[in-house]
Amino acid sequence: MQLKIFFKAFPETSKCPSCGKIGTIRRSRTRNFIETAAKSTGVVSLYKCRECGWRGYLKKYMINRYSFITVIFYGILILSVAYIITQILKKNFGT
Ligand SMILES: [Zn+2]
Repeated sequence: MQLKIFFKAFPETSKCPSCGKIGTIRRSRTRNFIETAAKSTGVVSLYKCRECGWRGYLKKYMINRYSFITVIFYGILILSVAYIITQILKKNFGT
């Protein structure tokens, strides 16, 4: 069973958001403080397109249908634990 919410995305193999060509996206170096700060979050990376010159951020992680299953699974788990704790507390401290 997969218990990951975020899956690694590969922007290098995805389409350019500007011209739509595949395989033209390459990693780009940061040029200023804002770009460095955004990159340091680890969520996005700076990319540029060799074809049309587009430059921007792309997410390094993505969610898919397994993410929802995992979130639901964790939700049920947390609710179950909360219910058990409530029952124990009621048994010990309730009237
Ligand atoms: Zn492009």
